[in-house]
Amino acid sequence: MPEGDSIFRAARALQKSLAGKVVTGFETTLAKLASVDDQSPIVGRTVERVEARGKWCLIFFSGDLILLTHMRMSGSWHLYKIGERWQAPRNAMRVVITCGSVHAVGFSVPVAEFHTARSLERSSHVSGLGLDVLDAAYRVGEAARAMREFGRAHPDAEIANVLLNQRVIAGIGNIFKSEIVFAAAVNPFRRMETISDRELERIAEIAQRYMQASVAEEKAQGIATYAGNRSTTGARDRGARLWVYRRQGQECRRCGAIIEMRRQGTGARSTYWCPSCQPWIEAEKPHLTSRESN
Ligand SMILES: [Zn+2]
Repeated sequence: MPEGDSIFRAARALQKSLAGKVVTGFETTLAKLASVDDQSPIVGRTVERVEARGKWCLIFFSGDLILLTHMRMSGSWHLYKIGERWQAPRNAMRVVITCGSVHAVGFSVPVAEFHTARSLERSSHVSGLGLDVLDAAYRVGEAARAMREFGRAHPDAEIANVLLNQRVIAGIGNIFKSEIVFAAAVNPFRRMETISDRELERIAEIAQRYMQASVAEEKAQGIATYAGNRSTTGARDRGARLWVYRRQGQECRRCGAIIEMRRQGTGARSTYWCPSCQPWIEAEKPHLTSRESN
């Protein structure tokens, strides 16, 4: 699942290769994009910049046109030199933007829309996003407050689901969700009403630290894929990079207890946790007092 860090890396790679260049070729298999291209051609426009917002990638063209894409589970942007062999099947191609000797190819892109600055402003996709965990303007205190506010309105919401809610904090996906609450020693199924301000701050701080570490070490590379080499443990060894994600049945790297997995939330997303490092804490029920039973 592409997370904010993958989109950030993809946008940065696209920015490096395309920004300031004139589009010399545009091809798409998506009817909606093709009809915009027919009416107001992409070729001849300049790529002004490429940005990530949460899990959205925005490619700004001159003449007030923005290509907004979301990769969901399957999509990816690749960069190729002309003549270079593609590393994904031709029939998965949805968009190709060519600038001179470089192709940016969007494979299996499930959501792609052209926008003007104004329609983007109105689009709920981007305008409703919460604080972007990879934005320089992200502040731990502000993110913790956003979670607290959401928790006040939804006291039964489970913390791991809240971390996936892009309207609270944008950019966290399913892998980091489990890794962050493990590092914060918070059980992923705890309800918001049981979580202290201190814990929310810890979660907000770890979220930023993990996601930033994941985008920090990029070397110049040809392909911006989502395969990624994420590490939250700090280990380089392929088998030791993550604390709990996809480690059910194996020993916790901290305490040796057995990591568990359970489906959680509306999308039944897999959640991994250590029952010993992340103990369950029941909600207090202050309203069930003896006075009320009279
Ligand atoms: Zn443990």
